[in-house]
Amino acid sequence: ETKSAYNLVIVGYGGMGSYHGQLIEKTDRLNVFGVFDTADYRLELAKGKGYETYDSMQAVLSDENVDIVLIATPNDVHKDLAIEALRAGKHVICEKPVTIYSADLLDIMKVAEETGRVFMVHQNRRWDEDFLIVRELIQKHTVGDVFHVESRVQGANGIPGDWRQLKAYGGGMLLDWGVHLLDQLLLLTDSQIDSVSAHLSTILDTEVDDGFTAFIRFKDGLTALVEVGTTNYIKLPRWYVKGSEGTAVIRDWDLSGEVVRSNPDVEKVEPKPIQAGRGLTKTMAPPSEESTIRGPIERAETIPEEFYSNFVAVLEGTAKPAVPNTEVHRVLVLIETLFEAAEQNQVIHRDI
Ligand code: NAD
Repeated sequence: ETKSAYNLVIVGYGGMGSYHGQLIEKTDRLNVFGVFDTADYRLELAKGKGYETYDSMQAVLSDENVDIVLIATPNDVHKDLAIEALRAGKHVICEKPVTIYSADLLDIMKVAEETGRVFMVHQNRRWDEDFLIVRELIQKHTVGDVFHVESRVQGANGIPGDWRQLKAYGGGMLLDWGVHLLDQLLLLTDSQIDSVSAHLSTILDTEVDDGFTAFIRFKDGLTALVEVGTTNYIKLPRWYVKGSEGTAVIRDWDLSGEVVRSNPDVEKVEPKPIQAGRGLTKTMAPPSEESTIRGPIERAETIPEEFYSNFVAVLEGTAKPAVPNTEVHRVLVLIETLFEAAEQNQVIHRDI
């Protein structure tokens, strides 16, 4: 049955829950109907917005006006809330990381299958323009065949002082920003992963990782360095992409950056040695200006709020999910393997 607009209840009305509220207000087919949060002051805030408020999850689930439950609580309760909601006949949107362990997602997927309800994870950074630019650059061979990608986010503010610092809630940066960066990475190639290694940092002395460095090798030869840091007073570029014919850099979310590639119309010019420190080098001299082409980053198109319109289309059976659960599961398996590699301080060879 199709409706002009589906009623959605936000469960967990904190930072992300209220952001969803703002975004969904702008959509046509979804109506922010109500809010449930275990904290009274969050419910007061929701009331102020004119939303229905509920005093229990049970009250949400037994309300027949509710079509969709959006889960934006801390990570540890996503699974139970999702399964409850699906069993009550609701469709579910769930925040990332969907669950702390990959097996838990399989349990949710089973219930979604049994109940015939839609379950989709909010991997919103699939629509980030910086990522889409890199994906197009690879697809169009702008810098030749890409053989190495570096993807980083770095801050100097530590981990927020809430549940994100606690293991029991699924805290730590690998399960936070890591989920986004690894999800994006897996969309850059059709190849399977061959091996991984990782280092988790605990500079801030928290019980969870405050950052990590992961090295991932794909079967097609692509290598990737994925790095998240929370103690970087100077940050490195968001993306650094090396191809057989050039290099691209995207410095930040403002999309500043450039592409430098060899000029196919000019014979390679022998570099002149340059003074480097107390020595001379030809090997590390910059490529000659005449044999390279320097250009801006080519922008990519992204449809605002497409996640929500896709969800509605999936619910109505007119589109495939933009975030398939099998892809989300693969990211969680990769994360588990990175934890394992870090703990063992070993390269793990595994088909992922
Ligand atoms: P937050 O601490 O600001 O908000 C969480 C809210 O959930 C709080 O208001 C809390 O009272 C409530 N809550 C806790 N347990 C609950 C329960 N059992 N039932 C109902 N409400 C409950 O956290 P946040 O930053 O909003 O993060 C929430 C989720 O969103 C996390 O899974 C996080 O990883 C995700 N997130 C995603 C993005 C993104 O870009 N996709 C960004 C930020 C956060």
